[in-house]
Amino acid sequence: MPLMGDASLASVLYGASITYGTITAATQTVSAVIPVSTEKHVNKTEIVQQQKNDQMGMDSTMPRNLYLAFAGLLVLCMIISHPRFLARLFASLPTKKNQNTSVKVKVLPYSKESLESVNQLQETKREVSGGDLSQGWFLKRGEIENRIQIDSPLTTAGLSDTCSKKDPFASQFEEKLRNVQPIITKYQQQQQSENQVPVYYPPPHIIPLLEYLPFSSKFLLFTPFSKLPAKLHLKSYLTLPQIYLIGGYLILNCFALIWKSDLTPSSKDKGYGSDWMRSGLVATAQIPLTIALGVRGNIIGLCVGKGYERLKVYHKIVGRIVFLASTIHGAAYMYKWSVAGTFSAYAAKPFAMWGLLAYFALVLIVITSLPWVRKAWHGVFEICHFVGIVGLLVGLALHVPVAIPFCVAGMVIYLISIFCSVTKTRIAHAELQALPGAGMTIVTLPGLRTGWRAGQHVRIRIPALGFRKAFESHPFTIASAPNGDGLVLMCKRAGDWTNKLHELALRSTEFQDRGEGGSNQATVIVEGPYGGLGNTLAPSFSSVVLIAGGSGITQALSLGQDLVHRAPSGVVRARTIDFIWMVRNEEMAKPLMPTLIELVNEAKQWEIQCIEGRRKGLKKPNPTALRVKIFVTRCPASSPLTLLSSLENDEKDDDWKIEENKFIIQTDKHNSIRGLKRQPSAAEKEKLAYLLSRNPSSASTASTSTSTSSDSSSPKHNIPLSTISVNPVRPNFNIFLSSLADETISRYGRMMVNPSGILVTACGPESLTDATRQAVRNMEDYKKRGCGGIEFEDEHFGF
Ligand SMILES: Cc1cc2nc3c(=O)[nH]c(=O)nc-3n(C[C@H](O)[C@H](O)[C@H](O)COP(=O)(O)OP(=O)(O)OC[C@H]3O[C@@H](n4cnc5c(N)ncnc54)[C@H](O)[C@@H]3O)c2cc1C
Repeated sequence: MPLMGDASLASVLYGASITYGTITAATQTVSAVIPVSTEKHVNKTEIVQQQKNDQMGMDSTMPRNLYLAFAGLLVLCMIISHPRFLARLFASLPTKKNQNTSVKVKVLPYSKESLESVNQLQETKREVSGGDLSQGWFLKRGEIENRIQIDSPLTTAGLSDTCSKKDPFASQFEEKLRNVQPIITKYQQQQQSENQVPVYYPPPHIIPLLEYLPFSSKFLLFTPFSKLPAKLHLKSYLTLPQIYLIGGYLILNCFALIWKSDLTPSSKDKGYGSDWMRSGLVATAQIPLTIALGVRGNIIGLCVGKGYERLKVYHKIVGRIVFLASTIHGAAYMYKWSVAGTFSAYAAKPFAMWGLLAYFALVLIVITSLPWVRKAWHGVFEICHFVGIVGLLVGLALHVPVAIPFCVAGMVIYLISIFCSVTKTRIAHAELQALPGAGMTIVTLPGLRTGWRAGQHVRIRIPALGFRKAFESHPFTIASAPNGDGLVLMCKRAGDWTNKLHELALRSTEFQDRGEGGSNQATVIVEGPYGGLGNTLAPSFSSVVLIAGGSGITQALSLGQDLVHRAPSGVVRARTIDFIWMVRNEEMAKPLMPTLIELVNEAKQWEIQCIEGRRKGLKKPNPTALRVKIFVTRCPASSPLTLLSSLENDEKDDDWKIEENKFIIQTDKHNSIRGLKRQPSAAEKEKLAYLLSRNPSSASTASTSTSTSSDSSSPKHNIPLSTISVNPVRPNFNIFLSSLADETISRYGRMMVNPSGILVTACGPESLTDATRQAVRNMEDYKKRGCGGIEFEDEHFGF
């Protein structure tokens, strides 16, 4: 029993004036001096002693019991995520050496025989891929891939009024080359991809174990707190399984705090009593866990396949338990000492002073973590967290020796995390571009092209922002796909730091435009990548829906780009990617329109090649369509939307682009003119009229649903589906998801294959993610089963 022989600890255990040594000595003295005392008295002393020993034994084993329970919970979470992790591992295994799986394809003469020989040659080379376990750890320079160029907002000319239209890194010759490059690349790409055979199979799709539970569809996404008022600060996005996990953990802690612990005052004939040591031990034992859940180099996250940002909620809960237990411990002893009149004597003792220091450090952490302090002074919150953790660990280790192992463990976890952060940090040159209409700053790092997975985020520091803001690190989701032209971040103006960044970008652009020098380049310290979808593999799903609100487009953009870019290698199973973006006004969407249009074009080209290739009998994978739907939510009824038409006019002299734009827009018109859209039946018309009368905003969705289902039920289903549309209303997610499920079921039904689920991601304001979650939850069970399950992933721009 490690506690028994420790005098300082025993002093705390036994209360103010008695130490373990004195008690033992007193007991021995009693038996020595009064050897002939009555049998009854001796028995009583022995019983009291036995009670004390039991109590101390129970206290000392409590941290071990707690850790056994943590380990059990962790193993449970790991078992739940294990099948997905194995699937990811399997899809990440490197290709065998003798199989040259280079994406470069030999262009053979266009004859049936030669194409067949290419097919046979490459058929043997196809590998399962898409797990990307080797990606997402460190940012790297990478190589520029030879594929269709996707303009980043930075390289797009003619759209943003005040932003710089020149690429500062390109010479004049390079600029000219850049103008003709898309035409050349497109031609080469067409030539190549005519003969291209996919080199990979999509990764296996594993249904999460929890989905097999009865009533799982209603249970897994139920968020009971979302109905409560926001001022209660209960996390509205907590789902029922998360609440159960937290509830179970709280019960475990109550058990650890009170099981066989005697809190009544000690007395001569009643055992130990006043067991306020237990709460101190329970708090101390959980410090390493709290740190492990909160740090960026997150070992627990690694075990359960979740990013650190998704574990922050558990970090907060465990942190609050530590604070509560420490408060009980500290307050009880202070009260006891005050009642006994020994407070000042004890407060002067080193162990009590170190204990007080540790507690004040904890109070500092707690106060600066309050939501309103964190929002108002995030920098202060971060500094106080660092100072507080160091103070807490040092103070506690010097308070009682039993705390030393826990403090060392906490410190090691913290140091490992700092080491991870340092190894993940890069210094890179960035181009800054202000988009005042959208209230955004684009930060492009052309020197970092790979090393992240779509959906991950980085933390950036910009020394050029001045001394006070220089070393604040701010998280931003990477808006570009890996292996492209660089890492792109889109930072919306939200407060001090982002405002300063915007001003810096604006100022340098103005100076440049006036020819007064200045540069819109800045040195950026980037740390990451972190987070992302974990073991959820977007390419393994049959349909993908990316929903974004405002600046939340960053996550959807990188996932969308990644899937579209990788589709030609055969790794993407999804037939459709629905990209739904809600913006307040058109100004916000304008800067990104060229990127979106280019992306839709790229998807469409590949779709056409696949469909044509299949018609010719070539082995082509499933085409992947990108359907971009932009919803402008604050559009006055009197002014029609001009997003697509203004682009068409803006780029009259840019031949290749205008052609592409027309292509897309005309395809939409063409579809409707040629009657590829099924005319709604009388029943559908009635439903539409009813929906319109109930909720005007559902009109567009209802019509969309009619059109999407028409695609699937039409005999001419082998047509490219990639489109871009702009709508002046809010979408109705219930109707949209329901019709997408119908579409997926009917498409796979035709192919006599089971669909492998729909992935829905949402990023943006809480109301948007909540509405999406509810729509996923509300979908009928038979539809969910029919389409292979529907999964929901949300991202919050806050902790
Ligand atoms: C994982 C993640 C990804 C994000 N991705 C994007 C993105 O792609 N585009 C985008 O525009 N915004 C994104 N954000 C939000 C962005 O980090 C904040 O808007 C920005 O840090 C605000 O800083 P500020 O000083 O200008 O505003 P402040 O007024 O200081 O803060 C505004 C809000 O941002 C929070 N915040 C401030 N500083 C930090 C920080 N260092 N770390 C975390 N939160 C902070 C505050 O709590 C507050 O709620 C993301 C946030 C997170 C957590």
